[in-house]
Amino acid sequence: MTLLASIEDHDESAQLASIVDELREAEEEIAILEAVKVAQLAGAMRIALRRMEGKHATQRARELELRSVAAEIGAAVRWSDRVAQARMSDALDLVERFPATIDALTTGRITARHAAVIQDAGCVLTDDTDRAAFEQVVVEWAAAETVARTRDYARGLAEHLHPESITTRFERAEKARTVTLSELHDGLAKLEIIGPTALLHGIHDRLTQQARAIRATTTQPGEEPRVVDAEPAVVDTRTLDQIRADLVCDMLLTGQPTIDHTTDILPGGLGAIRASVHVTVPALTAAGIADRGASIDGTSPIDADTARQLMATAPGWDRILTHPVTGMVLAVDRYRPGTILERFLAARDIHCRFPGCRQPARRCDHDHNLDWALGGRTTVGNLACLCKRHHTLKTETEWTAAQEPDGTIRWTSPLHRRYTDKAPPRVAFVPDADPPPF
Ligand SMILES: [Zn+2]
Repeated sequence: MTLLASIEDHDESAQLASIVDELREAEEEIAILEAVKVAQLAGAMRIALRRMEGKHATQRARELELRSVAAEIGAAVRWSDRVAQARMSDALDLVERFPATIDALTTGRITARHAAVIQDAGCVLTDDTDRAAFEQVVVEWAAAETVARTRDYARGLAEHLHPESITTRFERAEKARTVTLSELHDGLAKLEIIGPTALLHGIHDRLTQQARAIRATTTQPGEEPRVVDAEPAVVDTRTLDQIRADLVCDMLLTGQPTIDHTTDILPGGLGAIRASVHVTVPALTAAGIADRGASIDGTSPIDADTARQLMATAPGWDRILTHPVTGMVLAVDRYRPGTILERFLAARDIHCRFPGCRQPARRCDHDHNLDWALGGRTTVGNLACLCKRHHTLKTETEWTAAQEPDGTIRWTSPLHRRYTDKAPPRVAFVPDADPPPF
């Protein structure tokens, strides 16, 4: 090593050492400022509580006093008043019940996040002596450990000191079991289950085993192709996490509960109940010209392909015409062929109208040859029976169809080749040699 390189190394190490020291100092100062915030919030909570005591009116009037103080703080520091209220309440609890933790925060020995996990784990200890003993040990631990390790340690210790048995607590806690849905970004949402630990671990384990079983019969990219039953296995690019998520969706959307008290009351029982979502799709997106603006309930964005797939398989749609500038709703009509129209189409088309397909009309959708989103009308001259497969093909690919007045459909392929599908004649004098597929 040359002398110059050695000096540069030394300089860089000194620089890094000073960065580390300054970060540490900044963390301490932030902790001290956090302690100031806790004290202020606790002070605000005391004021709110005093005002609430002064009110001899209803619970609602007292609650409004608290909300009003919280809104005051929230507006000033740009928190929602709910957040402000929760933080005020937590701050007072921390100050009154966790004095050793507040001391450690005020001197910068632990961070606000350490304090939060200590409070979270210790809040179940109702006995002051127990809680003080808990704090004494956990604060020392927190001063030397990460937040995550502090959380594990604090929870373990609190569990040990807990005045109630886990059985009693579980009976109470289990009442909070729930399933909640929240929105994420980019067309994703999160479904969360809160339930008994053993069951949820069981669910996760079953999904993992199923996902691994799928993996065992497929080939991952870059792997030697697997052979299953003398056939090369299909390539599956999904990760275990992705397969687990796909399995949950599949089973929850199509499965049937084992315990079902409704089997004698509802036709098909609970398993016959189908999911329903309200999808909004702008006309240009529906027609495949644009890719934006599709949403669930008008608020949660979804990707255009999913929206078009849902449209292709939905039994009916409400078309909403809005003013191009104000967005005001001008008119609403129902996109679903009426019964007489359906019977007419079944009689005329007999089977799917894609060239060569013979899926019977009763198993077909009614396709708007000129896309309904582009102004195509729900009339016999613009509707035709298409089976799911070919309806999807037309919706999702560049296949297009145009109908002539006599019911003939002129198809154009993505390669711009043209095909004609004539409406089948209603009277056949020659028996069909090809038996129907049903
Ligand atoms: Zn078909």
